Amino acid sequence: MNKLLQLLLIKSNFNGYHGTSSWSLEYFNFEPGQEKLREALCTLGNGYLGTRGAFTEASASRIHYPGTYLAGVFNKLESHISGKTIANEDLVNCPNWLPLTFKTGEDQEWITPSPNHIISYYQKLDFKEAALIRNYKIKEQSGKITSIETRRIVHRGEMHLVAQEYSITPENYNAEIIVRTGLDGNVENKGVERYGDLNSLHLAHDEVGNFLDNGIYLSVGTNQSDIKIAQASSLSISNNGKEIKPIAIDTKKEEKTIFQEYRIKVNKKQKYIIDKNVSIYTSQDKDTDNPLKSAIESAKKCPNFTSLYESNKKVWSDLWNMFDIKVEGHTFSQKALRLHIFHLLETASIHNTKLDVGIPARGLSGEAYRGHIFWDEIFILPVYDFRIPEITHSTLLYRYRRLGQARKYASENGYKGAMFPWQSGSTGEEETQIIHLNPQSGKWGPDNSRNQRHISFDIAYSLWEHWKITKDIKFLSEYGAELFLSIAKFGASLTDYDSKDKRYHTIGLMGPDEFHEKLPGASEAGLKDNAYTNIMIVWTLKRALYLLSSILPDKRKKELLKKLEINEDELKLWEDITKKIKLIINAEGIISQFDGYFQLKELNWKAYRKKYKNIQRMDRILKAEGKSPNDYKVAKQADTLMLPYLFPISELKEIFNGLGYEFNMDILRKNYQYYVQRTSHGSTLSKVVHCYLSDILGQTKQSWKWYCEVLNSDINDIQGGTTPEGIHTGVMGGSVYIAIKRYAGVDLINGIINVDPDIPKKWKHIYFKIKYKDVWYIFEIEKHKIIIQLSATKTKPKEYREKIIIRNKEYLFSLNQKHVICLKRNGEING
Ligand code: BGC
Repeated sequence: MNKLLQLLLIKSNFNGYHGTSSWSLEYFNFEPGQEKLREALCTLGNGYLGTRGAFTEASASRIHYPGTYLAGVFNKLESHISGKTIANEDLVNCPNWLPLTFKTGEDQEWITPSPNHIISYYQKLDFKEAALIRNYKIKEQSGKITSIETRRIVHRGEMHLVAQEYSITPENYNAEIIVRTGLDGNVENKGVERYGDLNSLHLAHDEVGNFLDNGIYLSVGTNQSDIKIAQASSLSISNNGKEIKPIAIDTKKEEKTIFQEYRIKVNKKQKYIIDKNVSIYTSQDKDTDNPLKSAIESAKKCPNFTSLYESNKKVWSDLWNMFDIKVEGHTFSQKALRLHIFHLLETASIHNTKLDVGIPARGLSGEAYRGHIFWDEIFILPVYDFRIPEITHSTLLYRYRRLGQARKYASENGYKGAMFPWQSGSTGEEETQIIHLNPQSGKWGPDNSRNQRHISFDIAYSLWEHWKITKDIKFLSEYGAELFLSIAKFGASLTDYDSKDKRYHTIGLMGPDEFHEKLPGASEAGLKDNAYTNIMIVWTLKRALYLLSSILPDKRKKELLKKLEINEDELKLWEDITKKIKLIINAEGIISQFDGYFQLKELNWKAYRKKYKNIQRMDRILKAEGKSPNDYKVAKQADTLMLPYLFPISELKEIFNGLGYEFNMDILRKNYQYYVQRTSHGSTLSKVVHCYLSDILGQTKQSWKWYCEVLNSDINDIQGGTTPEGIHTGVMGGSVYIAIKRYAGVDLINGIINVDPDIPKKWKHIYFKIKYKDVWYIFEIEKHKIIIQLSATKTKPKEYREKIIIRNKEYLFSLNQKHVICLKRNGEING
């Protein structure tokens, strides 16, 4: 590559250039300041585990942060902060299986990535083949030049297997070199600077050792949850297709680490390929009762890297066949969408059905939010529901299995039914911290975000969506209904009837907007009548009543009513709440986020923007200035506006009318206008919602602007430092949801697939598939044309026809044929 082009590429990297291919992220220089961001973005995972895209030669430092996270492997530690003892449960940073480096002579240094030595560099995260590639050339002080080429995979088919190939080509020397491989359990949870004061040492020594000539193993245990994590690795070196016997192998063991050094002779311009395969098991896995033994056995019989690479590629190719969204006309959309789908598939997979895990808000790519599971699933699960609903199914079972804990949590707080924690980890107990650090001021302050009781209704919502798409009555009857009704019971118990205004009210809660914890000057945390929560309660109760009256088989209904102690009076109460919960709506039709919102002060947005430039985290700015976000009309993210994101206008109208209030498009428009001006978008989720709503309102240009920000969220770390701590699965799910539901306009309404596209100007063509009722719907949509092809996954009679509604017109389509519908410019259908 000529120097000028290289320079241009290096420069453009700063501005978010990631190569021209839509199937990869590419980097053309080593940029220490960007390394942690790239590590998170280049995470490889398979649902069971995720490994950040760190250099094999690096250990944790200011620049690098290798991290491997196993779904559901949590550990709780106590820390002493600000005179308090607090306990935090973390998704554990497990032993680093990556270590692999070399030195070009006894007296030389181990090769580490450093801008002083790297003379050329190329890195690629290949989405299609699910591989991380890094090729670079090192020039040592001695003048020795070595080319290094590496490939890494986390196997999708064999969930315990991870592997890397590391090739060394001495460019200008012959030498006896030393290759060092290792398994490093000397790691801590140090990935988030803000958590620096907290205890972070989760792993205790168990066992290290070696097997055969070329195998090492390491077993550690989490020091509170007592989970054993075992890794076994085998290594082989070849040149020109022939295995090389090392001159010597030296094994170095310490308490939680084991390294092996291989001494080999290398010749100039020859390529030496090192294969390192690692097998990882834990005592939580259902397919072993001896993780260490299983890891060693699996490492012994592990195929070589090339065949692992090929079999992994094959599994991913099948996945892409289901999940890919092809967008023509806008390369950035295409690349970012594929990056998002890639991460969603890495975070949760069919392996989840063998585990007992939810979907962490930051995937398996970093330690922010401690790997906890929030409400973000509401943004994510639709992606799986339409393709591999078993993933949603297993995520809902994660909640189902924690119903006991949720019931306990409800009753401890004086409620009935099941109250799920705002942040959930291993046990289903509340994992939200009680104090948190404001990096803007360096001070610890109270964290009341656990009062977001809406999480339970968000779970109910995801459950209902899953039911709508799968119509899986077995799942609903055996598990889903109990979960749903327990949440409904909790919802009803959250409300209190006030005979003065003859309305039901909720108190002590928070909506999704985390900036508002209480009214100005109030001593107690929590707000009255958060509109989002109140409507979610009504929706849940309405659906619960319908579930009982029209879906559940009689026998099961009786069983559940008895088990959950739901009697006639309770059902009457549910019905009554759906007619009388309180909303505060002003004369202009603005729905008050909570009681008292309208009395808060207006913020001088212009002045704050001018002073701070990035005001996304207005809460931290205000607190650092000695003020409180509680006093101002300033929201972190969509709160009231979540409602039209989740429900069609017609459904909201019905709910509102049932309560004696109005809802329509005009009210939505006014509320959007009102709240968008008062939101700082301190959560990436906010942009998803605003993008979706502005599109509904016909503000297509504005929607596109939001969409670009949604796509940009992680790839360019637009929050300025959050992505290095882990990608955001919610925003990723949201981007896919909007592409399909809003832009391609494909939606499930009353059990029928509806299509009403409005694709962004920059997109010429969008292609994707969804699966509904054993039929794959394959869509190709352009501005003025829709092509639909249907193919059944189960045998159907020849005369089988599927009903689809396109722009309000009904069609009956046969299977395995392309159906072309032309759209007129005015939005009508041609012919
Ligand atoms: C948002 C929450 C979200 C959490 C995890 C927070 O910043 O305010 O809505 O659930 O991040 O993604």
